[in-house]
Amino acid sequence: SSRWLFYCRPGFERDCLAELIARHPAARAIEMAEGWGSVRQIPPIELSTLVFPRQLLQWVADVTELPSRDRISPLLTAVEALGQRFSDIWFEYPDTNEGKALSSFCKRFGPLFRERAAHLLDTDPTAPRLHLFFPSLERCLLAIADPASASPWPLGIARVKMPVEAPSRSTLKLAEAFLVLVPEQELTQRLKPGMRAVDLGAAPGGWTYQLVTRGLKVIAVDNGPMKGSMAGHPQVEHQRQDGFRYKPRRPVDWVVCDMVEQPHRVAALMAQWLAEGHANQALFNLKLPMKKRSEAVADAFELIDDKLSAAGIRYTISARQLYHDREEVTVYLRRRR
Ligand code: SAM
Repeated sequence: SSRWLFYCRPGFERDCLAELIARHPAARAIEMAEGWGSVRQIPPIELSTLVFPRQLLQWVADVTELPSRDRISPLLTAVEALGQRFSDIWFEYPDTNEGKALSSFCKRFGPLFRERAAHLLDTDPTAPRLHLFFPSLERCLLAIADPASASPWPLGIARVKMPVEAPSRSTLKLAEAFLVLVPEQELTQRLKPGMRAVDLGAAPGGWTYQLVTRGLKVIAVDNGPMKGSMAGHPQVEHQRQDGFRYKPRRPVDWVVCDMVEQPHRVAALMAQWLAEGHANQALFNLKLPMKKRSEAVADAFELIDDKLSAAGIRYTISARQLYHDREEVTVYLRRRR
């Protein structure tokens, strides 16, 4: 059966493996390294259904002992041997400190290789994409992505820019979450001007900022102060209350939650908001324990499923350890009609 290559946040390789094994018990690790790993005996999996891997590619070849004077020729030979044409070629490396040196190598190498490989490129955007992944300067893994199900971002990382006016760096997390967790073609319908949101644990206002700039009105719940551009903003109503008790007087479109709390408490709260009809969509963080992190996520999902099934509510859920997430994952929960 086929081999797969995944990318992840360094230190979370075991969590990726545990997640893949939970899905397909026959899955076996072939190699685990910092920021990536490879597995065998799993069928194709849609990346959007996974939490810890940022990218999942079909591994097709492993080229080792690349000579420093000419890395292009052996790689070109290996790529030509695949007997296939590609919509694009990406040059990638692990998201680690050593990866930084590989990043500048890839910037120089990419255009040179692409020039020599022009005959292997196809104008059809649905053709598979080739990934040349360099764990080191001497080794390159060849992997193939189906553009329809793999991550559309290099390294599996959706880059977002820090807005100068946002009061905290957490703002990047929500910006990234909207890109990664909400299907692109749905985003403008699900998140639009005039909608109302509640932000639980809002201070100093980084998440509120993301909602406000998209034209939403926000009830920001936190005992702490809102800061900078989010203090006294006309689209923001600050409520100094306990986020576990607060409920809006009339339903809102979104609830977001970044309170640092036990994951099962946050999961239960979010399920309650949907079950009681206070919001149709929830986006929240689950802080993870040090060990058994993929189990903690599965437990939270189960708890949500119990509560929503009991309330007769149909829903969709997806989660991802985002680039801006450290020991946590971000979850998007949406009620279906
Ligand atoms: N999302 C915010 C941002 O982008 O600026 C950062 C939120 S910070 C990680 C967590 C916040 O949750 C803190 O401001 C804290 O006061 C608030 N918090 C924690 N427990 C809370 C509770 N029970 N009720 C209301 N706020 C709470």
